[in-house]
Amino acid sequence: MRAQPKASHYINGRFVDDEQGAPLPVIYPATGETIATLHSATPNIVELAIEAARAAQPAWARLKPVERGRILRRAADILRARNAELARIETLDTGKAIQETLVADPASAADALEYFGGAVASYTGDYVDLGGPFAYTRREALGVCVGIGAWNYPIQGAGWKSAPALAMGNAMVFKPSENTPLSALALAEIYTEAGLPDGLFNVVQGYGDVGGALASHEVVAKVSLTGSVPTGKKVLALTGSLMKHATMELGGKSPLIVFDDADLENAIGGAMLGNFYSTGQVCSNGTRVFVQKALHDRFVERLTERTKAIRIGDPLDPETQMGPLINKAQHDKVMSYIGVGKTDGASLHYGGGEPKLQGFENGFFIEPTIFTNVTDQMRIAREEIFGPVMSVLSFNDEDEVIDRANDTEFGLSAGVFTRDLPRAHRVIAELQAGTCWINNYNLSPVEMPFGGFKQSGIGRENSLSALALYSQEKSVYVETGDVASPY
Ligand code: NAD
Repeated sequence: MRAQPKASHYINGRFVDDEQGAPLPVIYPATGETIATLHSATPNIVELAIEAARAAQPAWARLKPVERGRILRRAADILRARNAELARIETLDTGKAIQETLVADPASAADALEYFGGAVASYTGDYVDLGGPFAYTRREALGVCVGIGAWNYPIQGAGWKSAPALAMGNAMVFKPSENTPLSALALAEIYTEAGLPDGLFNVVQGYGDVGGALASHEVVAKVSLTGSVPTGKKVLALTGSLMKHATMELGGKSPLIVFDDADLENAIGGAMLGNFYSTGQVCSNGTRVFVQKALHDRFVERLTERTKAIRIGDPLDPETQMGPLINKAQHDKVMSYIGVGKTDGASLHYGGGEPKLQGFENGFFIEPTIFTNVTDQMRIAREEIFGPVMSVLSFNDEDEVIDRANDTEFGLSAGVFTRDLPRAHRVIAELQAGTCWINNYNLSPVEMPFGGFKQSGIGRENSLSALALYSQEKSVYVETGDVASPY
């Protein structure tokens, strides 16, 4: 299986390479085979990309917003037309089941391009009446923005970052995760085909050092990172010391609370979506599933039945529902957490093994896993695992579960399942999390802000909030009379 792109990087509307850069192998997680080899960016490549962005940005920012938006909407149409081809690239890069990538990944990027392409023309400044004189505000581009992506939603991440940035008149240099370099290159080609002027969306590959070089570059005005909390702290410290704008979308250990009056099948569906989709590699996953005592045993029994039916296997088979983890390191990390759960005294209720799949013996597969009898202090209930491992905890009442749900350094997401809607809103209002769901889980439409409280991040992606965060506000005072000068 090969998925070699034309070159490693995409700069100024063209594929470029520099073979001096460290080799960057692309591994298909289902088989462990190398399907492409790219090169990490050298300092020269970083300079070329930043310079292309710097040169292209001012003219782009002077276009009417509706003209910029038109190009983004055209690119959204191309993404949709090529959905099947892009979904296949994403599956080869990430190992995620094709039945997911066909509906979730390029489609979500297309949604972002369409939404921001349409919204930007209406994203206007304010008029301020000063009783004669007046003021108005302008929303101006920041300049060159850097996007740094994680590996779980590569093309979505590239779309969520580039669409609001470009819509507001910025240029972007995007560095995908070193684990998933392919689909951002496809997006770059599509932008060019849609008519985006050269230099406005550039892709450079590389490991953390390339991310650091981009984030600290003097030309760069803003950095938007999706990644883990430790990486976020490093990048935020760097950007803070250089007075750059920053958005941080980081990790979580989110609570999903199921009251005993909840619709059982819906609550289980939500918990499974929030733990097993993308093989559990989703930042907002509700990995601490709190179930009220009276419902607990029935919940676990039915959850187990439904989990047993999950089809693990060949990610390119449309019947497959769960693929492998992204790489060996992540696989080993998840397996070690399963071991920790057992030694800490949780009950391994289901899964926890490595399925043996014919033809995929070297893939990074792990069964969907359910722990019960989990207590709040166990490491599997406190640390982000980023794999298909659900912890079920039981609780008695509302006040208790709110306290326990909030007892975490993270604050990305939270969910509540109940038929008692006043209670749902009351509980959500108390939960310390930036992105919440009532009677569903993990849906992130582009119209809704997405981001975290506490250690889970700063800033928001999606919605008009993202346009605010990819722009800076200028206020203009306009005198309509004489200057009252004491001199
Ligand atoms: P990671 O932190 O290892 O890497 C993220 C990105 O940062 C990669 O592109 C990496 O090369 C780059 N990077 C690493 N060190 C850097 C440095 N010093 N300077 C600049 N860039 C650097 O994360 P990951 O393993 O790719 O992704 C998994 C993590 O991402 C999980 O914690 C998950 O919760 C989080 N995540 C968050 C969101 C969100 O929107 N909140 C979405 C997806 C994933």
